[in-house]
Amino acid sequence: MAATASSCKVLSQRNCLQIRGAACVGLFNFRGSSSVRLPYCTHTSGMQDLPSSKRRSRGPVMAAKKGSAGAEQDGKYKDSVNLPKTEFGMRANSLSREPEIQKLWEDNQDAFILHDGPPYANGDLHIGHALNKILKDIINRYKLLQNYKVTYIPGWDCHGLPIELKVLQSMDQESRKQLTPLKLRAKAAKFARETVKNQMASFKRYGVWASWEKPYLTLDPAYEAAQIEVFGQMALKEYIYRGRKPVHWSPSSRTALAEAELEYPEGHVSKSIYASFKVVDLSSSSRGLLEEFLPNLCLAVWTTTPWTIPANAAVAVNAKLNYAVVELLPPEEAVLVSPANGKRRYGRILGELKKPNIIVASDLVETLETKWGMKLLVKRTLLGSDLENCKYSHPIDKRECPVVVGGDYITTESGTGLVHTAPGHGQEDYVTGLKYKLPIFSPVDDDGNFTAEAGQFCGLNVLGDGNMAVVNYLDESSSLVIEEPYKHKYPYDWRTKKPTIFRATEQWFASVEGFRQAAMDSINKVMWIPSQAENRISTMTASRSDWCISRQRTWGVPIPAFYHKLSRKPLMNQETISHIKSIISEKGSDAWWYMTIEELLPESYRDKASEYEKGTDTMDVWFDSGSSWAAVLQKREGLDIPADLYLEGSDQHRGWFQSSLLTSVASRGIAPYSGVITHGFVLDEKGFKMSKSLGNVVDPRTVIEGGKNQGESPAYGADVLRLWVSSVDYTSDALIGAQILRQMSDIYRKLRGTLRYLLGNLYDWKAENAISYNDLPMIDKYALFQLENVVKNITENYDKYQFFKIFQIIQRFVIIDLSNFYFDVAKDRLYTGGLTSYTRRSCQTVLAAHLLSVVKVVAPILPHLAEDVWQNLPFPIANEDGSIAKFVFESRWPALNEQWLDLPSDEVHIWSKILELRTEVNKILELARTEKLIGSSLEAKVYIHTPDANVARKLRQMSEAANDADSLHRIFITSQAEVVSSLDDIPSEKIPYTGEYVIQESDNNNKVWIGVSRAEGSKCERCWNYSIQVGSFTEHPTLCSRCYKVVGVEPVTELAAVS
Ligand SMILES: [Zn+2]
Repeated sequence: MAATASSCKVLSQRNCLQIRGAACVGLFNFRGSSSVRLPYCTHTSGMQDLPSSKRRSRGPVMAAKKGSAGAEQDGKYKDSVNLPKTEFGMRANSLSREPEIQKLWEDNQDAFILHDGPPYANGDLHIGHALNKILKDIINRYKLLQNYKVTYIPGWDCHGLPIELKVLQSMDQESRKQLTPLKLRAKAAKFARETVKNQMASFKRYGVWASWEKPYLTLDPAYEAAQIEVFGQMALKEYIYRGRKPVHWSPSSRTALAEAELEYPEGHVSKSIYASFKVVDLSSSSRGLLEEFLPNLCLAVWTTTPWTIPANAAVAVNAKLNYAVVELLPPEEAVLVSPANGKRRYGRILGELKKPNIIVASDLVETLETKWGMKLLVKRTLLGSDLENCKYSHPIDKRECPVVVGGDYITTESGTGLVHTAPGHGQEDYVTGLKYKLPIFSPVDDDGNFTAEAGQFCGLNVLGDGNMAVVNYLDESSSLVIEEPYKHKYPYDWRTKKPTIFRATEQWFASVEGFRQAAMDSINKVMWIPSQAENRISTMTASRSDWCISRQRTWGVPIPAFYHKLSRKPLMNQETISHIKSIISEKGSDAWWYMTIEELLPESYRDKASEYEKGTDTMDVWFDSGSSWAAVLQKREGLDIPADLYLEGSDQHRGWFQSSLLTSVASRGIAPYSGVITHGFVLDEKGFKMSKSLGNVVDPRTVIEGGKNQGESPAYGADVLRLWVSSVDYTSDALIGAQILRQMSDIYRKLRGTLRYLLGNLYDWKAENAISYNDLPMIDKYALFQLENVVKNITENYDKYQFFKIFQIIQRFVIIDLSNFYFDVAKDRLYTGGLTSYTRRSCQTVLAAHLLSVVKVVAPILPHLAEDVWQNLPFPIANEDGSIAKFVFESRWPALNEQWLDLPSDEVHIWSKILELRTEVNKILELARTEKLIGSSLEAKVYIHTPDANVARKLRQMSEAANDADSLHRIFITSQAEVVSSLDDIPSEKIPYTGEYVIQESDNNNKVWIGVSRAEGSKCERCWNYSIQVGSFTEHPTLCSRCYKVVGVEPVTELAAVS
């Protein structure tokens, strides 16, 4: 076995055990295991909790405890026992202590790192916010200990529709009528600031460290001015344009929406129709092929939005596809007459005597036969390109419209292979429309009602009666083939949860096309965690259309444009933008509403003020938050662009990560970040989404401060919440619930117990007492080797942002391994080895190293606990520059100690064997205890025999170790241990309990034999070890020789035990 980092995994239990006599292996599992089937181990451990310590090392502890409690004198040596002492209590007292510790940091904080994505200032925080901010805080605090200058400015997104809606909802009809834009903005600003205040208090309560006194708010004049500047830079590069284009429009919010503001709920059903448009003229290339079918020839189209038919301007075909002229042969009348059979409605055209010949894609003939429930007889085929420039009569207003060639979006996957094209209502239609100079017709108003341009449909709602009216009209005019419900993904307004429409309006756009390649290139240079995120954002960026950045709302940053009253031409140039920017930086964006056009225009345009009017559009809020690199990273002291890290939920690939990327690349050519981490969502314990109706919502405030029923939801404190954050693999969805929190609390308590053990045994420690490494006992060198490997491993995982691995290492090493071995064994020499003895001092040297390393490596995750420990350190810690680290975050990350790591591999090997052996010895001791041969393990003597000469020699050395700490019996916590050369020398009747196990890695058949008998001699009154020397010192007839020496050199002192 090589001496690698992995060898720090101790207490192997993989060897088989054979007991002579009886007993079953199950008995030896005395550490107990959790009955809870969750991924967290709940082995008992801790200073006083360890079952083995209760059983074996109870002696001096219990004796002194009794003594200190003022009970009857239980032994005159009790005061010479060096029990742990610390003011650091087992109770975290999180309710009062954590805020105190947070105050301590506030009063002593320095500067900070990563760029905070602004949460929306619109309501209470949920557990997802806690996950996000705590992850950021763990990273910031780690970097801080790593001696980085960390600047962390928390931010809030303060503009936008949701806040505007909240304000409006809080008012009655009458006061809403009185509302001017400025009044509305004032109310919205007040609401946002109020929310920021509340959210900030919660974030602070999570123990998140930040520049709370100078956060960034998107409503701050300086921020707004920086945003106008970004807009200006993009405008000057001609990436901003005004155009009439179809955009996602929400009739329920009366505004355009960005893609990030849409959602696609399950179960949306549209009314889909197949319609026929009558061909009235042929192109030259189709004349010979189609003339014979006129005038009874139609084009078949399919749409899920019949209300867009009035805006139809063309039918598009794919030039490369084959099309067929088919004759309809409908089934018997009976099938056709029931228009209201709930599912499919057949058009009256099918009942007419003279049925039309219809053009569809050849590949779809079979599919359509099934779908329409009739035979389609193919009479002619031709190429799509032949159809270009044929003319048809618009089914409603009888305009003559062309057949055009569309793009590759026309396929034979669905529909008819001929696409109804309404450039005012669809992105691809719009592009095709540009190519053929088709009219961009969109006869629908802001509320989603048809305008007068839609003729007879005027006033009807396109998502309701208007849609139906169009279908009925088509049927009456013999244009409807069939109508049927169609289930598909359809965009909804994510705020109002109502369907949106695609509608052409005059809007401002950022031309993504203009800088798409630069954006793609910069994505490539960013570190994405998890790595698949890169693919996600690449795909989204590659496929996104131009970004509609104007909104028809009041609560936001104005688009700084004036419009000529007559020509409607916008006025916007470097001069006007920079003038408005300087006004906003001074007065805030309200100025746009209260200042006159004359004031808002720069000097050179002032005399023309009467010819212009102000625009009323505001910017998409994603443009607000997407400008934070300019308003914060570029402007604040200690920050720069690109930031090292952005860290948000995975939904931000299409939100903030993207809007920040686009604005930054467009104006500066680079991404605003060099690394991006995304995390998943938080679900309940069973993996369900949290919702009030399910009653499974975990409120971070309740986790920290407790719920109404403290029995069910106790106050765990921020550190337990933070420990949970560290425990989850945040790259996928994280689970939380009562049971998980209970386990976290349990693990927290054990970790606290470990730290308390360390503090308690270092009460008299001074750095100058340290034993130099070369003089340490083997057991101590091995302990430092393990510690250093663990610190190294933890550091590597912090660097990789894999906190859940750190959580696992801490749980295994700090909580389980240390308590079960080193701490357990150390008690004897710490308590009874003599206050200033070599054996106690060497142990303290190791404990001090553990305390300082452990407290620092847990500090980023559990800052309150770490600070609490630090404030209870019984000795001062100096930094490299000689200054005293008064707070844990004034100290530095533990530097790797190469000497400790450099333990020779055979040493590492032998220790792994000893630990294995110790586990097996414990099993036999447990058997002897169950059978009442012994009570405490100190009443036992252990015999070992192994044929492996190497191991035997080492063990014999240890059984006769010159230094007490390495003695084999101390390691087993028994009074004696003997390595026997031959089993024949052992009279079996003297050794009632025996067992064997095999060292698996050895080459030969290497069975180790273990025997247990009662210890020889009498019990020492002071240390409870058995010894044949007890009784041989006339002055102290009840002491063993070790205690005799300790008592002799060390005067009895006043000691108080830990209560
Ligand atoms: Zn003793």
